[in-house]
This record gives sequence, structure tokens and C-alpha cells, in this order.
Amino acid sequence: MKPNRRKFLSKAVAYSGFAAGVPLNSAKLRKASDPTSHDPNGASAYSEREDQTNELGAQPTRADRKFVDVHVHITQPWNERGELTARNLLRWMDVHDIGQAWVLPLISPEAWYYPITTEFVLEETRPFRDRLIPFCVVDPRTDVFGGFKHFVDLLGRYKNAGARGFGEHKWGGAIDDPRNIELLKACGETGLPVLFHLDNDRNKDVPGLPGLERLLKAAPETTLIGHGPGWWASICGAATQRDLGGYPRGQVAKNGALDRLLGDYPNLYADLSAGSGHNAIRRDLDFGREFMIRNADKIMFGTDYLADKQAVNQFELFDELKLPVDVQQKIFRDNAHAIIDDE
Ligand SMILES: [Zn+2]
Repeated sequence: MKPNRRKFLSKAVAYSGFAAGVPLNSAKLRKASDPTSHDPNGASAYSEREDQTNELGAQPTRADRKFVDVHVHITQPWNERGELTARNLLRWMDVHDIGQAWVLPLISPEAWYYPITTEFVLEETRPFRDRLIPFCVVDPRTDVFGGFKHFVDLLGRYKNAGARGFGEHKWGGAIDDPRNIELLKACGETGLPVLFHLDNDRNKDVPGLPGLERLLKAAPETTLIGHGPGWWASICGAATQRDLGGYPRGQVAKNGALDRLLGDYPNLYADLSAGSGHNAIRRDLDFGREFMIRNADKIMFGTDYLADKQAVNQFELFDELKLPVDVQQKIFRDNAHAIIDDE
């Protein structure tokens, strides 16, 4: 560890109120040579050892697991909502044959019940970095002290501390707001792929997604990964403003914004997570299947898992779709590895 990284992390933890009271990592990683670390029934192997700490650290990753999940969260106890710890997330990943997951903080006021800070995500994933890939996030309204340069400096600090991407970006402004464009250009400059949520309240746009296209033109060096109701409603050529805030049903009209933008912009990708990703494919299975085959290099498996025992419809959907094996491999994990190579 470089001294500047250590310094940054200790500072980060000190000012992260939500990290307070959470035990910091003090445990050893399990050795890769442990024969049980390649046990396909990792979940049961884990539960037998629940009393030991952090033995999940060297579980199998890309070689023998089916999925990379590009969209999960760890959470803290909040009113009646329970927490989702890194350990419970890993146990769930084992059950579903997920080798790695991108763990996304949420800090904008419009994003979640409370801030899930970058510092918290960096700290909690630290013992499990071979499987849990931490992201960072910054709100565009942070730009009061220096614009692009300030953002590059801030993002560089998070990158040095271990962040591999940016998101879940879920701020309550327009997707092509000049502050947002500055921030996301800085992500490209820093080498952090951006996962954003688009609907009628966050990263706002209108049918056809012209605001997103302005961002794509302004930030060609930034990898952008779309998610959320507004993004996924735009699979349909007849999407309305109301659709961009919901879960529209029924047949999909051709020539949607997603086919066009995914085809035209090499830096644009799609995250299939959550009810919105599931609904977009489920509403018209024939169209959805063909959409995934023609955009096979651009679409990634994700769930948005964030609570113990949360129902996830994506697994059943993929069983039903029976995509060609090469398409499955790209969507299930290879595209994610192409964006974030962990080797
Ligand atoms: Zn999410």
C-alpha cells in the first residue's frame, strides 16, 4: 500500500459517519490453496464455518463461476430495514453461482433512504476484493470548488483507495446538466466506468434520450452503463415520458433509443438489473431475446440485490430465454470483465 493511499483511507474512515460502529477489517484472508475454496457448493462450505471471519476472501472467481453481477449494494440497518452485510451478500452469491459483484455506493439525496458512502463500501469490501469490486460515487452538486480539475482530483483519490468504477450514479438532475457532463468526463479521464440510473427523477431525460446522446458526444472517453426505468423503457420506439418513470408492459415497438444508441456509441453499455431490466425483456420475450442477441457485446447481467431474501427474477428469466451459449458468456460475465479486468 502506498503511503498516500493509507493516509487517504484513514481520513476517509474518520469522516464517514456511517462507517462508525461498523467493525473494521482485522481478519486474515483465507489461503487460495485451501481445497474447499474451489468447492462449487461454496455456500454450504461457508455456512459450516460461519464462526470464522473472512474465510470467503479467496473463493473461486472467474474460472469456475457463471455470473458477474454488475449491480449490488451493501446496506446498513435503517429504521425497520435490516442491513445487508458483505458476508451475507457473498453467501447469496455462492448460492447463485456469482463469482464477482460490483458493489455500488449511493450518496445523492435522491438515491436512497440514507447515504451509503464510498468510504463504507471501500472499507466493507476490503477483505473480499477478489470477489467484491468497490465503486465510488460523487454528486455533481459537489462542484463548487473548481469543476473538472476538482472532480479529477477527488475521483483519483477514490481510485487510489481501491474504487474500480463510478456509481450507482443517481442524482436528481438532468443527465445533460453541465455539472453532470463535467463530472462524467472526469470519470473518463480517471478511468472509472460509470453506472447510472435514469428515470423521471434522476438523470432525467425525455423520450428518445437526446440528453443522454449529448452526454455521449461530450464524453466519448467515458464508459457509460445504463440502468433504471427510463433507460429500459427506451427499449421501445413508442416510449412516452410517463413510461420513463415506470414499468411499461406490452409489445415493444421497433427503433427504440436503446438499439440506436448502443449501436452508435462504442462507450455505451446496458445493465439488466432490477425490476426495470427484467420488465424490459419480460414484456415482449421475442423482442427481448433478439435485442440481447444483437447487443450481446453491450449488455451485462445484474440484479440490484440489496436486502437479505430479496426476490430476484433475472435467474428464472435467463433459464427461460435459453440464449445461445456464446451470448450467455458475454452477458453473464465476459462483458463485465472486459470493462473491469481484475487480473
Ligand atoms: Zn441499485
